[in-house]
Amino acid sequence: MAAPIQFNREKFYQVFNDHLEAVQSMTEAMQAIGDPRETCVIEVLKSIEEHLVGLFKAVEDGKKMLWHEFLFFPELFRGFPDVHPFMTELLCGFLPLFDPEGLNPYIDAAENMGLPADICPADKGFLGAVLEEAQPPADLVVAPTSPCDSAVTGYQILGQLIEAPVIQCDVPYWQDQRGVELYEHHVWKMIRTIEERFNTKMDWDRCREAIILANDLIEAFIAENEMRKLSPCPHPGKLGFYQFMATCATSGTETGKRLAEFILEDSKRLAAQKKGALEEEKVRLLMYNPDPFYDLGVHDWLEDEFGAITALTFFGHATQTMIDPSTPESIVRDYAWKMMNICMARQYRGPHEFFMDDFITVLDNWNVDAVIVPALIQCKHAQATHGFIREVCREREKPLLLVEFDPMDARPVSIEKIHSTIEEWLETQVIV
Ligand code: SF4
Repeated sequence: MAAPIQFNREKFYQVFNDHLEAVQSMTEAMQAIGDPRETCVIEVLKSIEEHLVGLFKAVEDGKKMLWHEFLFFPELFRGFPDVHPFMTELLCGFLPLFDPEGLNPYIDAAENMGLPADICPADKGFLGAVLEEAQPPADLVVAPTSPCDSAVTGYQILGQLIEAPVIQCDVPYWQDQRGVELYEHHVWKMIRTIEERFNTKMDWDRCREAIILANDLIEAFIAENEMRKLSPCPHPGKLGFYQFMATCATSGTETGKRLAEFILEDSKRLAAQKKGALEEEKVRLLMYNPDPFYDLGVHDWLEDEFGAITALTFFGHATQTMIDPSTPESIVRDYAWKMMNICMARQYRGPHEFFMDDFITVLDNWNVDAVIVPALIQCKHAQATHGFIREVCREREKPLLLVEFDPMDARPVSIEKIHSTIEEWLETQVIV
């Protein structure tokens, strides 16, 4: 067996410094352009910049690095002294935003190692980044067994590539009391393993502070979701993606709370002035399943060319729940429940009703005229729901487009192809 992959300081700084520069350049470019739709996106980028600076500092200070899957929000881990949580998929989430081909070398590295093309690019992307020695150091890795087999396999492979142990917590099939008790049990086991591995103890007061900040973030995110029911919709279609990604990275910090509150206040300000991302909304869309990461501009294009606002997206749908911060027991119980209810963990497990219930709720409550469902090539969960989605949209007489693409790699289906498919559908079935 090959020797475990070690931390490569030079490569890490090269890749993450490039990433930081890309974030800063995009912020500056957006500020210079001055499109009001980008007001909140700029704030998200600033929070990501802060997050990256914090990562560099943690590496410099020699903090213990705890990698966590994106479906474990980091607020819980902030209670461990001298431990820095790092979202394993960070590069996958953000690289394609700044460069549509940004994740390709990592996807290719994973496929060259032998991973099949139909593994999710999120998993191929982070495994490729490990193979290319671009990631920060890892002392321990924690992940839930969700949202899919691709992620479960990806983390098992990660365990073979690096020295640090990888712990996977079993996510229950059902959304019920027995399920949450099982998950709670696994979260407790995870906490004890982190304590043992890092020779530390959870500081519950510190954890409580992070939980309260995370609650404030979610409260604002949910309230902003409600504002998106308004017409005109205050915020642009692309914002939801940014909100979710920023939440994955900054949940449980002052930065995350401030950002979510800024977005909510901006939404209220615009609503009070009866302003929105579009002055006149010709069509209100729902995009339910991940957006093309390399082409969030698809939402700008829909708004500019067709007067079509995406009222809500899958990532932008705040389904997260709150955590009672009173005691360690209430924190762990509600953290387990919250992690069962975040985007993807909630919809892509158990029976298809879990996905369909959310889909129908949004369809019926966000004043939507037509629906785009990204038919992600690698996502078996998503593919399996198409029949139900067709039926629900037919019953409600909502035009539906199932558009196939890879969410993080524009090579299988190009940006031009995605746009031309949407354009043809809009012109023949929606704006007639
Ligand atoms: S998009 Fe589908 S395949 Fe990718 S992580 Fe989510 S559930 Fe898994």
